[in-house]
Amino acid sequence: LSEPEGTATVGPAVSAPVLASIAVGRPVRGEFTYSVPNELAGNLAPGQRVLVPFGRGTALGFYLGPASPPAEEGVKLKPIQRVLEDSPSLPPDLIALLRFAAVHYRYPLGEVIRGALPPGLSKAVDEKEAKPDVQHFAVALVNEVPPELHRAPAQSAALAYLLAVGGRAPLEEVSHAIPGARETLKKLAARGMAKLEERKLEAGVKEGLIQGRPDRLTVEQDAAVQELHKALDVGEFQPFLLHGVTGSGKTEVYLRAAEHALSLGKGSLILVPEIALTPQLVGRFRSRFGAEVAVLHSALKDRERLFHWQALRRGDVKIAVGVRSAVFAPVDNLGLIVVDEEHDPSFKQEDKLRYQARDLAVVRGKQAGAVVVLGSATPALETLENARRGRYRLLELKNRVDDRPMPTIELVDLRVERPREGVVTEEAPILSPPLLAAMEETIGRGQQVILFLNRRGHSTVLLCEVCGLSLKCSECDVCLTHHRSQNRVVCHYCGLAMPVPDRCGECTGPMLKLGIGTEKVEAEVLERIPTARVARLDRDSATSAERLTEMLASFARREIDVLVGTQMVAKGHDFPGVTLVCVVMADTSLAIPDFRAAERTFHLLTQVSGRAGRGKDPGRVLVQTYNPDAEPVKRVLAHDFDGFAKQELDWRKALAYPPYARMAAIRLEGEHPEQVASVARHLGNLVSRHMPPASAGVRLLGPALAPISRIRGKTRWQLLVKGPTHAALAPLLGRVEAALADVPNAVKVVIDVDPGAM
Ligand code: ADP
Ligand code: ZN
Repeated sequence: LSEPEGTATVGPAVSAPVLASIAVGRPVRGEFTYSVPNELAGNLAPGQRVLVPFGRGTALGFYLGPASPPAEEGVKLKPIQRVLEDSPSLPPDLIALLRFAAVHYRYPLGEVIRGALPPGLSKAVDEKEAKPDVQHFAVALVNEVPPELHRAPAQSAALAYLLAVGGRAPLEEVSHAIPGARETLKKLAARGMAKLEERKLEAGVKEGLIQGRPDRLTVEQDAAVQELHKALDVGEFQPFLLHGVTGSGKTEVYLRAAEHALSLGKGSLILVPEIALTPQLVGRFRSRFGAEVAVLHSALKDRERLFHWQALRRGDVKIAVGVRSAVFAPVDNLGLIVVDEEHDPSFKQEDKLRYQARDLAVVRGKQAGAVVVLGSATPALETLENARRGRYRLLELKNRVDDRPMPTIELVDLRVERPREGVVTEEAPILSPPLLAAMEETIGRGQQVILFLNRRGHSTVLLCEVCGLSLKCSECDVCLTHHRSQNRVVCHYCGLAMPVPDRCGECTGPMLKLGIGTEKVEAEVLERIPTARVARLDRDSATSAERLTEMLASFARREIDVLVGTQMVAKGHDFPGVTLVCVVMADTSLAIPDFRAAERTFHLLTQVSGRAGRGKDPGRVLVQTYNPDAEPVKRVLAHDFDGFAKQELDWRKALAYPPYARMAAIRLEGEHPEQVASVARHLGNLVSRHMPPASAGVRLLGPALAPISRIRGKTRWQLLVKGPTHAALAPLLGRVEAALADVPNAVKVVIDVDPGAM
């Protein structure tokens, strides 16, 4: 990812600008030039929110810096109307990042900025001070209204109200009931008849297992930490890849780096894939840094987001731990950016501004002069290639903490291990004899088991026994999944749910329930090992962040023997009691039509295997598969990331896929199949006509129906362009963008630069 020209960091305000470059908070491209009225010139600073005339009305704008006069003469520029805040909401390094994102991902700058800001700041209103995340309470210190108050009716009314509600109430509530109660209560407090109390509001996520600061680092941790300290002392942009096997103690390295940054007066930004799935990491940051940490997750309320934004902006809070969107958090004096599990697909946003937060983290580090640490046991091949080329410094943790061994990984060949007797032969065996034996043994020793299958529901296919027709969603080109717990069939793409049909809709033949989901695995465990305490962790069971945290905590307390789950169980959990991890079917992610399918399979298998043997007892992993010869499966078995990466990189090079090429997807969808197809072909022709000579290495793939050709009743097509650099693709994408003005509104077209999933 390279920075395009014209996105230089905006410096501090040049004295009294005459013309201002403004990003308007509307879906319009580019920056606009406005004039600066004399009375505003003195207090204009880049990053401020302003009010500007736009079209026939006014709009929220963001002052980005002075502008040069327009090329044409005689252009009458409109003036900025008002400045909405004294100190800028956007720090300079963030302005630079947002400008970069708008250009790179081809999204209107004003919308990019509005999307990054908390709701309170993304509207054209004057800045309000966010309410801190504490609640104020008024407490009565007397039991009745004393006679001396009879000459102060306001005070006696407030006190009477308080006494009526039990002597204690939130200040907001009292103020609502009795206007002006805030002042009145202060007077009561001065008289010793009441007091005001502050109670901290919980930010939402409860901590998981809080762990102390280990006295000693491992030799490898120490070496990595030393390197990071040195880089932080230098205080310049320096990207690192922290490649550490599962259980090698990467989190402690992040913590020490953040500690050092803090000692230098610098802020840190820690990005994680999903807060709810990493309560342990959050807990460690909270327990180490206490009030210095703002936790930014997607379920924050508007006012909490605003509160955190302002606290970080002012430098009151120096560390932000957050998900994808936190890459835009206004951490003051940013010294360190960490992206944990940097390979995780959730760093890619698949909506609106389609950014890759890991890539933006590196760009931000460059603009802010910060140290960037990308951490993973299975780095993305893009990141690995950057390290190989020397763009990122490589830090390696090859051993687990305390020299704990890596788990042994064994294969169970489902072609050989027959299902148990009496089960229909179409059914894949869920728990093969070796798997079952290992589970029983582990539970017998009082240890814990994780069973991983990346599919929710009970049966994933309902098939007519007579005509062979499978039950599909009426709106999407996918099969419906049977959820036995809800007694319904559900579409995992549009949410459509229906009663379970017992007969085929076409020929009234009986329906077979095939394919395995986590529900079926859970039921099978309960049936085969009735004494086991079993729980299931997937999006159906973890209905809220609280529920999820609760389940993980219960597993950590060893109240559960077997945890069955989707990739939610594969993430960075640290459960010392888990000594057996079983992959029910390794093949599910192999067949996905995506050039990253093998890489994704390798990542998932490694991550989930890494949950085994993290405590004092060694771990064991059993992988059931129909494809024992598949490259990612073989390499995971051999703990051979390097071998896998080399082979996969060779393949990517031969076929010109990232990291050896840059890609952009042009995605179309619309109600009418013919219309979408025709626009897709039109755009395809346009791209073909403007193709540079073959020597430039730019290729067009498609137009073709998307792998899932219909979702929510909309037909989907896509075109992929590949080329050696982003610059090589830009002119073509520009042509497509220009042509979109003539595309009928019924067809929605988006450009997805550096696409994640195909
Ligand atoms: P990773 O993220 O690399 O998978 P973690 O950071 O979760 O690994 O660390 C694995 C376990 O080792 C955790 O329980 C952690 O508290 C512990 N740990 C990390 N560093 C040390 C150390 N220096 N001494 C003792 N225990 C440590
Ligand atoms: Zn559907």
